[in-house]
Amino acid sequence: MPAPDAPHELPPITPPGVRYQMLRVSHIFGPTVQGEGSAAGRHCLFVRLWDCNLECTWCDTAYTWAVTAEKAAKTRNGQRYERNEPAYGEKEMGPAEVLSRLQALWDVENRPTIIVVSGGEPMMQQRALVPLLEQLRGWGNEIHIETAGTIAPLAEFDALVAQYNVSPKLANSGNRLAKRNKPKALATLRDTGKAWFKFVVTQDCTTDLAEIDQIVEAVALPPQRVMAMPEGSDARSNIATAEKVVDAALERGFGLSFRTHVLLWGHDPDR
Ligand code: SF4
Repeated sequence: MPAPDAPHELPPITPPGVRYQMLRVSHIFGPTVQGEGSAAGRHCLFVRLWDCNLECTWCDTAYTWAVTAEKAAKTRNGQRYERNEPAYGEKEMGPAEVLSRLQALWDVENRPTIIVVSGGEPMMQQRALVPLLEQLRGWGNEIHIETAGTIAPLAEFDALVAQYNVSPKLANSGNRLAKRNKPKALATLRDTGKAWFKFVVTQDCTTDLAEIDQIVEAVALPPQRVMAMPEGSDARSNIATAEKVVDAALERGFGLSFRTHVLLWGHDPDR
């Protein structure tokens, strides 16, 4: 029997003979503050994964998916990114490499924090994420997943997650309804009891709020778990939209999320 205060021994991340599915990673950064949603302001590290199953016109991480002319044309600025761009392009990594990159940023083994797995759409890689998340959670880190809510979590993945930050996409995102609206996946996330739902609202917030009302009612989302988040890649437009939407959000029992990282650092992808 180990002494009561002996450190908990975890198995090595890559036991001999075991092969893990590789993760498709864009970049890993931190420490920073979670910028959005109910955990805004908390200390965290980010693992940003590559690729997305949606194509939002105002996406602020389009470098994770807009790598063809066709995809780039879906975005507001039409910029096409290089898939193999060294800083933010696609990189294949096993869990051991992701872990060592996180450890280079913060002592995740001895000073646990929040690990935000974002994208792109991280739920596309949930099976491959399991070994990495098991190790991080074993060290006491809290796993938060950012998702658009179109893919339901698998049981073995869900068991490792502390919080889902679900951002269902509205018509203002430019995605087709059938592609962005997956009520069954949203209901599964709701039933985990670990999900918060944040909806991006634009200057045209009346149309956006009507659509949010429909989704909240159709999926029976608890209003106290819903937040309206003003779109805007600069502080001024973020605050202007927040001022337009805040009273209507409060009347519905919703919260309001700023984009703290935008207020602090503008559009820096490493913060
Ligand atoms: S779901 Fe998120 S990552 Fe994907 S295109 Fe939309 S905003 Fe970008």
